[in-house]
Order: sequence, then structure tokens, then C-alpha cells
Amino acid sequence: MTRKSEALRAAKLFEFYVRTIWPWHRLFAKNKISRRCLNCAGSEEMISLNSKKICQLCEKNLTPVSFSRLQESNPRKTKETSELNEILQSYQGVGKNDYDALVLFSGGKDSTYMIRRIQNEYPGLRLLSFTIDNGFMSVVAKENIAGLIPRLGIDHVFVTPKKSFYIKLFRYAITHLNSQGSYGTVDFSDGEFMLDSARKLAFEKKIPLILCGYSKYQVQNGLHLESFESPRARELSDRTETAGILLKDIFSQEEIKMWWHGSHLDSLSVARLLFPLYAWDLEEDQIKNEVVQWGLMNPQKQSPIVTNHQLIPLLGVVDIHKLGFGSFEFEFCRMIREGKAQKSDWQPIFEFLEYTAQTGLFVKPTVLQSLQELNLQLTDVGIEFNRKNPEI
Ligand SMILES: [Zn+2]
Repeated sequence: MTRKSEALRAAKLFEFYVRTIWPWHRLFAKNKISRRCLNCAGSEEMISLNSKKICQLCEKNLTPVSFSRLQESNPRKTKETSELNEILQSYQGVGKNDYDALVLFSGGKDSTYMIRRIQNEYPGLRLLSFTIDNGFMSVVAKENIAGLIPRLGIDHVFVTPKKSFYIKLFRYAITHLNSQGSYGTVDFSDGEFMLDSARKLAFEKKIPLILCGYSKYQVQNGLHLESFESPRARELSDRTETAGILLKDIFSQEEIKMWWHGSHLDSLSVARLLFPLYAWDLEEDQIKNEVVQWGLMNPQKQSPIVTNHQLIPLLGVVDIHKLGFGSFEFEFCRMIREGKAQKSDWQPIFEFLEYTAQTGLFVKPTVLQSLQELNLQLTDVGIEFNRKNPEI
């Protein structure tokens, strides 16, 4: 079997198991899974639950999760959308060379949605899409990108930095996790390097805007911003650390130069970095439905497990062993509380990850493979499969 069909098969098997078998299996595996909030699926390992199995956050603001709540007009959201609209309008055709905006494209639903909406609403904005391969991008993700680019009808550049750079970064990050777990350390530093690469490319090509498809949650909790635009001071500064890790602790002088250094540049030539999805602030289902309606994706292809990168199972398993829950759960439980994602979609995934992190079911070969690529052992990242019981 090719690597691609193998990856697809494993992902499909995982999905199938989670959807159809896990609801029964979980009844016999209760000693391996934590109790979860009845409202947002937050694990008791992440947040304390009251006697009615409701977490502290839901207890404070327990409104029934309703999708219609989000349709209500929100003055702040309207203001942000119109400010963003003005900026995007005003940059149409102003780039010094061939493009007005560099758009980050991962092949996932959010960035696909962002590109098509911008194309529809700002036809005069000349776009260049940009993807960076972190060396662990899944074959499925690459295939999605290759299929979507012609359908989006957009110019595209694919950048592949040398793999040894990423191995250094991920190897160090996964063995030096901050309090946000692997999501806040490995994934976050990966995202920071992607943004830095976009900043450099925009500068080289004299592109005045960068558009990134991070959700409102990712902008607020990951980047600690309360706006759809990255502050100017940040764009004009030099990076010295990422996810709490000092670059000089990992990289050589030459490698540090691969990150963004904006302090010595003419500020007029440094792009503005915008997060349109922060202002639009949509539900997960709304984005999914639109990209399906536009004929850009079929519903089966949207699973994060299928579309994300190869290290995801390893990161999830490490989190369970270090934190007791998957660090991506912070984001999804909040989305569930806010009515932007469905508990029934995510709870089985959270639970199954917890179970499989202990037993190794399905994930063990992938985890071992990823560790080997990072030149690490199970003990380096604190994983111990089947500590108490044999397989399953
Ligand atoms: Zn809750």
C-alpha cells in the first residue's frame, strides 16, 4: 500500500471506530476515561465539575447551547466587520508589484472559506496564496491543496524549509511543553514560523497585506490579541522566542535568521497582518456548509484527523500523559460553550483519544513512527502504553 492510501485508511478506520463502535465500547472502558461536563464536554482533568457534572464555566453562564444565539446582531462584531471591510476595499490594486494580499492557505476549511469569500467580496484584491510544508504535512492535506488551488483559481506558492529545521523545533518543543500542552507549544511554534515566513515573503514581494485564517479563539488565546489586526509594534519587532522557548536555545545564528526580524525595516514596506475570521466570527457549521455549497469540499473530507498533519496523534497522546486531557480541548470546549461547535461531534473524539493514549489502540504505530522521525523515545515524552492492563 502507498503511504497515502495507508494514511487515509488509518484515518477512516479511526473515524469509523469513533462514530460507530466507541459509543458501545466506552461503556466498558469507563475506568479509562474522565468525567466530562454535560454541557461543553470539558474533562474533569481540565476543569472542576460540580455534583451535577457541570463545569465551573458552564455553571456561571449556563444558557442552552443554541445556534440561533449567534445570529443575533452583535454591535462589536458589526463594527469589526465594517472596519475590516474598509481596509480590504482600500487595498484593492494598491500593491507595488503583482499582488495586494498574501493569503495563508492550509487546505483546511477555514482558509478555503476565507479565500473564496475575499474573492467574492473584493474582486479587485490581487491575491497570492501561500502554503508552508512543515515536513510533517499529511499526504491527504497536500492532496487537498493540489486539488483546491485550481478550483479557487488563485496563484500559489508552496515553501518547503529544510526538514532538519522543523525536526529541531518540534523535538525541542515536545520535550519542553508549556502549560498549554502540545497545542500551545508544538502547534503554536509551528504557526509562528508560518506567520514569520509569510511576513518575509510579503516583504520580499512588496505585498502590503497578509491575511491569515485563524479563528477568533486562536487569535485571542494563541496570539493574545483582541483585534482582527496584529499590532504594528509586533510587526516591526524581532523575534527572539516562540511559545516561551528562546530561539537561541535551539537554533544556530543562521537558523535564527529564518524567523522574522522587522525592527530594522522601513515600516512602510512591512505588511499589515489581518485575521478576517476574527471579525466575521462564524460557527464551524456555517463555514462547512458554505465551502460545501461552493463545491470546494465534500463533507467527508473535513475531518481534522484526516486533514491535519502527521504529528497530531503523537501530540494528543503526549498531552493525555502530561495533562490528562488533549490540549486542543480548551479551544473546542469553548466553541461548544459558545455554540460554535457541537458537543456530539467532539466528545467521542476527546474520549477516544484519552482511551487510546493509554492503550495504544490504532495510534501506536503512528506515534512510534513520529517519535522515530524526531529521534525520540517513548520515555523522552513520558508515554507509557498499557501501564496497567494489556492491549484493549
Ligand atoms: Zn462545561
